[in-house]
Amino acid sequence: MNTTAAAASSTAPSLTLPKLLVGQKALVTGANSGIGRAVALALGEAGADVAVNYVQGDEAANDVVAAIRAHGVDAIACKADVSDEDQVANMFGEMIERFGTLDILVANAGLQRDAPFHAMTLAQWHTVLSVNLTGQFLCAREAVREFVRRGVVSQISCAAGKIICMSSVHQEIPWAGHANYATSKGGIKLLMESLAQELAPQRIRVNAIAPGAIRTPINTTAWNTPEAYKSLMTLVPYGRIGEPEDIARAAVWLASDLSDYVVGTTLFVDGGMTLYPGFATGG
Ligand code: NAD
Repeated sequence: MNTTAAAASSTAPSLTLPKLLVGQKALVTGANSGIGRAVALALGEAGADVAVNYVQGDEAANDVVAAIRAHGVDAIACKADVSDEDQVANMFGEMIERFGTLDILVANAGLQRDAPFHAMTLAQWHTVLSVNLTGQFLCAREAVREFVRRGVVSQISCAAGKIICMSSVHQEIPWAGHANYATSKGGIKLLMESLAQELAPQRIRVNAIAPGAIRTPINTTAWNTPEAYKSLMTLVPYGRIGEPEDIARAAVWLASDLSDYVVGTTLFVDGGMTLYPGFATGG
């Protein structure tokens, strides 16, 4: 590492978020851990009321709710499996009954069930596709129904609704040993783009965020020892791991009217991971 890099911060900057989302109602899936947790907290800090979806871990969900309420907005915990059609419908019903409507969906819930391809079970394949891809379909469909029912309320937002799909750099980068996960993220890319094209005339903005390596429980083994961290950094030109807050700030911007003309885009928040870092010193 050169001296400039060594002197640079190894973590995300500490910043206060502007109140860009006052009066808006948001639902974040998978919001009691990692990226979803940070996104839910940031939307609350930016002024939105937030429904915190989770599938297990009541205490962690309640902690996120309490932290969001400390920003002076409302928050509720919504336990539901995003891959279950009835549970998703009930969750949106509960959320809309409490908050009146929905302006922002962050479809973030996701998991990995890794295996070499020859050993991958059908259960591992189905679990990942059901949560990561079908879960986004089910949640986006409920959100769109509410956005279309209500339409634009210009005092709240220029758009009738915003959907942010949590994708991954692996919507672009193939990933050996993770065929189910990479397939789910490739699917999210075209789901997002197709929805964006179909719904833009109704002023519904659909976009995705593709995180690189972010410090969360999903990928602990990639960063929790000095050796693993050093190896990970060979893939990250910016020279530090991403923090959940790096993704949360992008989500606040994509959910706000500051990004009103941004439609059908994937915002890569990856420290340059998709810049073919192996070519930095040759090729
Ligand atoms: P995480 O394990 O900390 O959080 C995942 C969240 O999803 C948890 O709250 C979990 O309870 C929830 N979840 C899992 N199954 C669910 C279900 N059936 N219904 C509802 N919720 C469910 O992981 P994370 O890193 O915060 O991942 C969040 C998203 O970001 C995922 O979609 C992941 O693919 C994506 N992502 C993460 C990274 C990274 O480096 N951490 C990189 C790229 C993309």
